[in-house]
Amino acid sequence: MEPGTHAGEDTGERTDAGTRAAQGLGAAAHIALAEQHSAHHYHPLPVVIAEAHGAWVTDVAGHRFLDCLAGYSALNFGHGHPEILAAAHAQLDRVTLVSRAFHHDQFGPFCAELCALTGKDMVVPMNSGAEAVETAIKVSRKWGYRVKGIPPHQAEIIVAEGNFHGRTTTIVSFSDDEAARAHYGPYTPGFPLVEYGSAEAIAAAITPSTAAVLIEPIQGEGGVLIPPDGYLREVRALCDEHDVLLLADEVQSGLARTGRTFACDHEGVVPDVYILGKALGGGVLPVSAIAADHRILGLLRPGEHGSTFGGNALACAVGRAVIRLLRTGEFQARSVELGLVLRTELDRLVGHGVVEVRSRGLWAGVDIDPDLATGRQVCEALLARGVLAKDTHGSTLRLAPPLVITADELIWAVAQLRDSLAELGAR
Ligand code: PLP
Repeated sequence: MEPGTHAGEDTGERTDAGTRAAQGLGAAAHIALAEQHSAHHYHPLPVVIAEAHGAWVTDVAGHRFLDCLAGYSALNFGHGHPEILAAAHAQLDRVTLVSRAFHHDQFGPFCAELCALTGKDMVVPMNSGAEAVETAIKVSRKWGYRVKGIPPHQAEIIVAEGNFHGRTTTIVSFSDDEAARAHYGPYTPGFPLVEYGSAEAIAAAITPSTAAVLIEPIQGEGGVLIPPDGYLREVRALCDEHDVLLLADEVQSGLARTGRTFACDHEGVVPDVYILGKALGGGVLPVSAIAADHRILGLLRPGEHGSTFGGNALACAVGRAVIRLLRTGEFQARSVELGLVLRTELDRLVGHGVVEVRSRGLWAGVDIDPDLATGRQVCEALLARGVLAKDTHGSTLRLAPPLVITADELIWAVAQLRDSLAELGAR
């Protein structure tokens, strides 16, 4: 089905996949099961996906939708990228997991290839993004005590307002989002919170006990908030001046999403620790890692950190396929080109239901006029028109389509946004 021919209503047209799936439960039954048997810590849009390829997904009734979220950037290479799937299939038939009690033949090559991609000496593979953030926190504290000489239990890691680094108890301890944090105390101390985008605020917060600064180069969950030009460079300089580690959480911004391999590349900044996740697993399985030099990761000794599934053979094989794709530069280039198309189209909506657009590469935050509609209402209207997108913080839409999307599909998606806004009353 071409862009523009999607119908949110049941037209009777179904793909084979949809027909097969429709023989099972219908969407309402699936949603009822989920509502009854899973905790309500998510509020998904009412669509039940049965199959996905490239930038398109198909629901259980056979309707097709253009995916403009891409698993919060976990699907940068699209659904079922053939090279990623081939690597996964081949590895599934060989060996998937040995635990870190033994070596396997994907581990060394994966680590070496990720080191080459990041320009770092060593990596620590984990699974989820939050675990990678936790790993960065732990090694920074260890570095602070063992190398910098911070007195025991005094180490501080400066973090930014509006941050989103995951959901563990320690990570939500330094969130300023009450929904993420309330009722989960007592909170882990040692994380001074400062204004995002202000190097002065970081300078003022640095003390002799500061081990690290942890920031997202672009705040994704915050609404694709791009700090002022020069911010990352100034933070880098401050960290150098005060012997503080710079930890860049590139879980969402990294791996081609912004048009460069890492969002830090836009300012020519190299952090001490890259924190990676999401797209590293190719949308197939959770793969995360941190990458840093020997002076930091060389501090870890057997028994001091770990994960049963971290660095498993299947994850490493998939991660290697992702790194091969990134090495071609094709996806970074697509992000730049398609990002320009997306931005041009979105800018036309400013003043017509859209208050502001922020974007870098193929990643955009679109602030909807709050007097017109909530982000959720706009997402529901988009869903009815065949586009999947997700709101964040009230009236902001976050658009992060897979980098395999075409320019025509993007133009069509923004036309659906225009029509959705008009339907909601925009002029
Ligand atoms: N860090 C950033 C910047 C993120 O955007 C996310 C997830 O959205 C995380 C960390 C946590 O990753 P995960 O959900 O895989 O734990």
